[in-house]
Amino acid sequence: MSVDYTDADRQVYESELKAFLPEKFLDAHVHVFDASCMVPGHSFPAKHVYQKVGGVFTLEQCFEWATALLPEQEFSLNCFGQPSCDADLEKAADYSGRIADNRRCFAMALVSPHDSAETVIRRVERNRLIGYKPYLDFVDWKAKRDITIHDMLPAAQMEAADERGLAVTLHIPRPGRLGDPVNQAQMVELCRRYPRAQIIFAHVGRAYYLSNAVGFLDGIAACPNAYVDTAMVNHEGVLEYAFRNFPKDRILFGSDAPIAFLRGKSVEINNQYAYLMAEDYAIGTSIYDADHAVTFTTFFYEQLRGIRLAAERAGLSRADIGNLFFYNAYRLFQAVAARNYGFGREHDGGNERDG
Ligand SMILES: [Zn+2]
Repeated sequence: MSVDYTDADRQVYESELKAFLPEKFLDAHVHVFDASCMVPGHSFPAKHVYQKVGGVFTLEQCFEWATALLPEQEFSLNCFGQPSCDADLEKAADYSGRIADNRRCFAMALVSPHDSAETVIRRVERNRLIGYKPYLDFVDWKAKRDITIHDMLPAAQMEAADERGLAVTLHIPRPGRLGDPVNQAQMVELCRRYPRAQIIFAHVGRAYYLSNAVGFLDGIAACPNAYVDTAMVNHEGVLEYAFRNFPKDRILFGSDAPIAFLRGKSVEINNQYAYLMAEDYAIGTSIYDADHAVTFTTFFYEQLRGIRLAAERAGLSRADIGNLFFYNAYRLFQAVAARNYGFGREHDGGNERDG
């Protein structure tokens, strides 16, 4: 469907966000793919979140949404495909390579632990990608709850990332999330063992409620190559905790668009969380407001609201805010691209490669 943006959304932007937001955005966590990125004959189930955007989310669609939600800001992104077993990992990487210019659009490959290091590096390098993203679903030899970070990221892949200083966006496994002791140990091991790899822990380590965050950022905070992205975190307490307890120059704004473009809000409930949903799409632990008890705006705006409140409480400066939304990620991704491919190329929407 086309962009879903209402006068009420505009009102939120005008009254709560406009004055706070910086001019430049780099969304470090966006899922962008077209039909070629999925295996032939694939279709998403009826209540799948991608049905909201027509079953694909191309770069053009992404820019259309961004223009509506961020009408006065310059929007850039880091993207990867849809990490599931019906994605074609080679074709998804090729699509990413076609859209990435390493200036306004950075991109990552999807990888499975079954891929050899050579396969991963070929996938990344031929498309001038800045790194890769593993995912839980590709670990197919054990129960989901038993999956570890080391299962998701085999040593050979990580050695290759370390050699090249690539970025790796990691959605950590296990029901205990950031607070899980196995995760805690392996997150730090990963950063220490591969000090030149740049590890981005997505969703602030999936800590969507406060007790999962408090006390659990210290290990990775001490690792200079550890970053967090804020994708889908709208909890101002979690965000404030991160701003106060994690190096501010290693926090990257991320949204998880197009999921973030749905109408809903993540809420903490009794040391858990749920997605309160205005729309009947299945995303994790969701509670659908079928009776329309309240009027929602997008997760995206709720995330920006949460960041604003947290930034005020933690005393972030204008410079900190500019860094959070753009420069932290830009410096990181630009450095990876420069190290591996020289300078970025102008975006031409095509397949051109410069020297
Ligand atoms: Zn995501």
